[in-house]
Amino acid sequence: MENSRAGSFSIPSSVPADQHQDRNLRHRLDEVLAEARQNERKLRRFQSLELQLIGLSSLCELIQAVVYPDPAATQWDMVTLLLIDPEYEIQRILEEEDVNLRDHPALIFTSDGNKLDALHPYSLFPMLGPYQPNRHAALFPLPKRPASVALLPMVRNGRLIGSLNIGSYSRERFIKGVRTDILEHYAAVVAICLENAANLERLKRQGLTDTLTAINNRRFFDQRLGEEIASATRSQRPLSCMLLDVDYFKKVNDSYGHQIGDQVLREVAAVIRSQLRGGDVLSRYGGEEFSALLAQTGADGAVDVAERIRKAVAEHRFTPPNGEQFSVTLSIGIATYNPEYTPPPAAMTGDTLIGHADHALYDAKAAGRNKVVNAGDVAAAQEGW
Ligand code: GH3
Ligand code: MG
Ligand code: MG
Repeated sequence: MENSRAGSFSIPSSVPADQHQDRNLRHRLDEVLAEARQNERKLRRFQSLELQLIGLSSLCELIQAVVYPDPAATQWDMVTLLLIDPEYEIQRILEEEDVNLRDHPALIFTSDGNKLDALHPYSLFPMLGPYQPNRHAALFPLPKRPASVALLPMVRNGRLIGSLNIGSYSRERFIKGVRTDILEHYAAVVAICLENAANLERLKRQGLTDTLTAINNRRFFDQRLGEEIASATRSQRPLSCMLLDVDYFKKVNDSYGHQIGDQVLREVAAVIRSQLRGGDVLSRYGGEEFSALLAQTGADGAVDVAERIRKAVAEHRFTPPNGEQFSVTLSIGIATYNPEYTPPPAAMTGDTLIGHADHALYDAKAAGRNKVVNAGDVAAAQEGW
């Protein structure tokens, strides 16, 4: 099609005096057409790159595709991605996906959005030009330095969320005044995709996380309880279940107000967490009650852990803004599923295990609180129990 358009521009060659000018014109026209064709190819390459990004649903995959794009499609020498992550949320999500951030120097995080404002001070348009070590070194912490750079601010709802930084070994590649519409479009698509993927991850996490204490919620616990029982049965190793309830918590709310009560719950959750192993499942079971699942832990081991938690919480001091320090205590009930002990044929269920732990907790309360009561190895319920 482009050839036929070139044909319609053909210049009569019958006038000898104008032949030189004709040749110049034709040459210029060929140049313009070649540039148009090149731009179109570039546009197509970026369109397919953008479509690929839009199709990715996980934040981890998306960031990977942005930081390591197909060099044939972009023809860039290097890319880095700087993201504003004030609450370390994105870093946490990636670490949970087993991404070792140290292996990816091209992925840079800052908790301070102001630093980025300094990079994009005047406008939210791309900045193209020679690489300046004093300004750009932190954006390209890579073994080789670029000669020219394009810094593309990523903006969502008028707010800077990061910067996509492209480097070239050629000084002439990114110079002021060249077209940036394709790059701007690409950076806008990356920004939208990043925001969507981050929102999706947030939703997924909120669904299984308690928003007050940031530990697992009851829904997560119920899911895991079944899985842990199945795993204990397979491995023939014991599984202990703990219920932990704050004593006289109502008094805390009544004396200090519910906001201090909330803070107490957050700190109690953190103290319990600090006494557990990484693989133990701690959840907020509801209100001021927590639950813990300790895999490969028999009744005696679970009592030791529970005593440690009980002491650590009792020794922890809470400091209300304008008042005297105070402390709270926990009552803890434990029940253990020991596949070697539990007589067949009835299979252990989550409800049975929790039911026994709850009875033990009730006994701990009745015995005066700030106590650990162990129901020991419990038998699976027979039908009709
Ligand atoms: P016990 O020793 O028998 O466990 O006494 P308790 O006061 O801890 O137990 P009770 O069940 O009577 O009261 C629990 C209180 O916990 C009542 C409820 O208002 C409070 N509570 C539950 N969830 C929250 C919360 O998210 N924040 C705050 N501040 N309070 C909560
Ligand atoms: Mg209580
Ligand atoms: Mg309670």
